[in-house]
Amino acid sequence: MAIANSLQTSHGSRAPIDKPTRHHGTVHVIELRCKECNFCVQFCPEEVLEISDHYTPRGYRPARVKTGKEGDCIACRFCEHVCPDYAIYVVEDSP
Ligand code: SF4
Ligand code: SF4
Repeated sequence: MAIANSLQTSHGSRAPIDKPTRHHGTVHVIELRCKECNFCVQFCPEEVLEISDHYTPRGYRPARVKTGKEGDCIACRFCEHVCPDYAIYVVEDSP
């Protein structure tokens, strides 16, 4: 009973000890560096990215954030790590 009582908050419910925090990020693509390899699109676990429908002066279609998915980036940075051209980066949003 003493242990059970120690898990109670002043509000009477058990408090989460390690409540997970979910990070969010804003994605930036440096279009002139992008070579349309599609790696970032394939590795993004949240399916935030896609290849756009316009071409850069170098003749590639750059990656972009899908319409409606702007708030879904979890700032895992997989896209940054797999990009061979340092063409994409993520700025973590303030909590
Ligand atoms: S940081 Fe992660 S979730 Fe965000 S766009 Fe890159 S791969 Fe996707
Ligand atoms: S991984 Fe880099 S070069 Fe490849 S599509 Fe994504 S941003 Fe472009």
